[in-house]
Amino acid sequence: MKFRNFKMVDYVVYGRGCFHQLDEIIAPKRVQGLPMVFLLDHHFENNDAFKASIPLRANDELIIADVSQEPKTSYVDEIANTLKAKYGMVSGVIGIGGGSVMDLAKAVGIMMTNDGLAQDYQGYDLVNHKAVYKVGIPTISGTGAEVSRTCVLTGPTKKLGMNSDFTPFDQIILDPQLIKGVPKNQNFYTGMDCYIHCIESLDGTFLNTFSQSYGEKALEMCRNVYLKKDVWDDESDEQLMMASYAGGMSIAYSQVGVAHAVSYGLSYLLGTKHGIGNCIVFNHLQEFYPQGVEEFKRMVDKHQIDIPVGICAGLSEAQFDQMIEVSLGMKLLWENALGKDWEQKMNKEKLRELFSRF
Ligand code: NAD
Ligand code: ZN
Repeated sequence: MKFRNFKMVDYVVYGRGCFHQLDEIIAPKRVQGLPMVFLLDHHFENNDAFKASIPLRANDELIIADVSQEPKTSYVDEIANTLKAKYGMVSGVIGIGGGSVMDLAKAVGIMMTNDGLAQDYQGYDLVNHKAVYKVGIPTISGTGAEVSRTCVLTGPTKKLGMNSDFTPFDQIILDPQLIKGVPKNQNFYTGMDCYIHCIESLDGTFLNTFSQSYGEKALEMCRNVYLKKDVWDDESDEQLMMASYAGGMSIAYSQVGVAHAVSYGLSYLLGTKHGIGNCIVFNHLQEFYPQGVEEFKRMVDKHQIDIPVGICAGLSEAQFDQMIEVSLGMKLLWENALGKDWEQKMNKEKLRELFSRF
């Protein structure tokens, strides 16, 4: 048995208001003449007070990242090529936003030092050179993108991340103040990404004590904020932020499962976003995660969340086949969920029936 030697984020700062240490933290990483590039979630585009708190110096660049769709390889290339043409090289890339912006920042950081196109690096350990200095600053919590060794990208032929030891951030800044006020539905969809990470990790065949210890703590905090507490307060933001971190650490050393494998199919064909897609799928997974789904439904009820229905109505057989193919391609996820003999338990017909329920 060979154990994974996994690369983690180098530096973590946590605390309410710690965003204000950004200037001081990045100062030693500035290279004379080369800008720091801040990729800012478009949610903050008109928030002048927040923009003014971003420590822009000299020729630093602030780019408003359009995350109306999840990041595409072409968008990564566009940003990286523009920066290369303008500056040759940059001091670093700092992503301030949800999972989409954090993934975009990781990918742009990688493409600053690697030749070719972003799509060339969608896969496992294909990145050749260390990226530029990268910082991740979540403004929504749940995905665990702040700690993961991947950055999920949609390319011309597949939706797959750049999984590599050069992908994790050098630094993350976890400031619960930044996630305050995320709208209820968005908070829930992204928060449930974390909840589902925990269920899929803890229920999976790849589970080990490392993953379990993070997964159980993250699950406890998800339950606290979404079930036990009756008001969303500062403590809720703090716990959700740390649940996201711990949930990400849990799956980093295990794997996700059925909801992720199936929702990848939806997102590839229909562009369904990760958090909401996971919710749409998880809602129908009683067979695989009976207790988790029952608890999930209670959280949906308590927070009066709308889980879309009918998104697969009217799709052609060819489209169902495409989603099934993408989903069945996630072999490690199925193996984690159903065991080594997963192909005896899951097949095209079964998945076709499952997709028809969404
Ligand atoms: P998101 O980043 O797509 O953002 C969702 C929406 O929330 C956007 O409209 C954004 O502008 C807005 N937003 C951001 N901050 C806000 C704030 N403070 N207040 C109000 N609105 C705000 O959502 P997400 O769920 O965080 O991330 C999903 C993305 O993360 C997907 O692209 C998915 O593939 C990726 N992901 C990556 C990993 C990984 O390990 N790298 C894991 C899971 C998901
Ligand atoms: Zn996820």
